[in-house]
This record gives sequence, C-alpha cells and structure tokens, in this order.
Amino acid sequence: MPQSKALFEYRLRESARARHVRLRVTPHGGLEVVVPRGYNPARLPGLLEQKQAWIRAALERTEAERRQHGPEPAWKLPDAIQLPALGRIWLVTAQEAEAPWAAVREAGPGRLLLHGRINDEQASRAALARWLVRQAHAHLAPRLAELSGQLGLAFRRVSFKRQRTRWGSCSHHKSISLNAKLLFLDPALVRYVMVHELCHLAEMNHSPRFWSLVQKHHADFRAHDRELRKGWKSVPRWAD
Ligand SMILES: [Zn+2]
Repeated sequence: MPQSKALFEYRLRESARARHVRLRVTPHGGLEVVVPRGYNPARLPGLLEQKQAWIRAALERTEAERRQHGPEPAWKLPDAIQLPALGRIWLVTAQEAEAPWAAVREAGPGRLLLHGRINDEQASRAALARWLVRQAHAHLAPRLAELSGQLGLAFRRVSFKRQRTRWGSCSHHKSISLNAKLLFLDPALVRYVMVHELCHLAEMNHSPRFWSLVQKHHADFRAHDRELRKGWKSVPRWAD
C-alpha cells in the first residue's frame, strides 16, 4: 500500500533532553518536530493529525509575518558591530558554554565576546539586544542630559527601548523615550531626535511654534527628519 502523503513538511530532530514531542514553528524554518531519544517516528503522523489545527494556525501566522518582512537569511552572529553614533566598532567572537542563556561582554578594546548558549538564536539575540540597550544608557543618556542643559529644557527621566517604528517619544510627564537603535545612526541624526523630543517638553505637538523651536536648536532639522525615515535601513538584522 502506498504511504499516505504527509500532512505537513517538517524537520525532525532528536534530542537527548526532550521528554515529550515538541512542535515548533519558526518564520524561516517552518515546522520543526523535536522528539525524545528512542521515540518511534511511526507515531508521528497520528500526532501531527491530532495537532493539525494548531500547526496550521502557527504556519499561517508565520507565513504572514514572512510576507510582511521579506525573506530573511538564517540567523548568523554578526562578525562585527558598528555603532556610528559612538564612532565605534567591535569585533565579535563567540564561545559556547553550558548555560541557560547567552551574554555579551567586552573582551578587550574593540572586542566583544558572546558566550553561553550561542547557537540558540533567541538567547543570542536577547543578549545582543541587552548589550545594545546598555550602550544606549551609557552613552546616549549623558548626551541627552547635556543637550537638555544647553537648551534649557528639563526632562524627568529617559528610557531606552527597541521599537520598530519610532525613534523617540516624549510624554506629558516629561519622560523621554529613545530608541536604542539610534546607535546605528550618525551623531547628527541622533542629535536631531534628541532636540526634537526635548522641544516637545515645551510644545507637546507638531505646531509651527514647535518646528520653529526645533529649527532654533537644530538648523538641519528638515533634511535630518527626512533622513530618519530611511534610517531603519541602517539597523542590522540581529538588532531588529
Ligand atoms: Zn514629535
């Protein structure tokens, strides 16, 4: 009797640590089935049939995500990280270690070491993201404070996030939020974003009064505002 066609295409992986069969759908890897060592694969078709509603929904969701963001190469650790805002570049090396996480630390001048679970994309991305936010705190927060003093516009606190659509924001409570990905832009653009958000402390809108205040403190505001919209292209995939 011919074998019936498989319900789904999937990658099968055996894991010594897995206790149960695990199903995982990733945007670029499709369906992955992780089975404990010694598992009889003849039981898989029945299991996949049983879980087909969940699998279909997950595949559809990731397919929609993929269409939106375009094809993406497989995860690869960056060989080097350049932060134009700081005028700095680091070479990145990785060292695998038994750990439930990955972490980034400076390993000498111009060198970063990612260690721990380096083959785990999520863990590695999270470690790099935490490092990026630390850099933003260390280097962008003092710049904002200095500009705030020069402009005579005082804020209460600054926080750094990694948004996908905004470079910065300013709240009625005088909290400024800056995108840590500003580190991938030129210092002049970073300055413009800071001036823009600081001016919102005086004018909580985009009125002509607001723009003339911005112009007073940052003459190139028009060109830089336009450039910022294309700035997302400067953000490397690993930081997205
Ligand atoms: Zn604004």
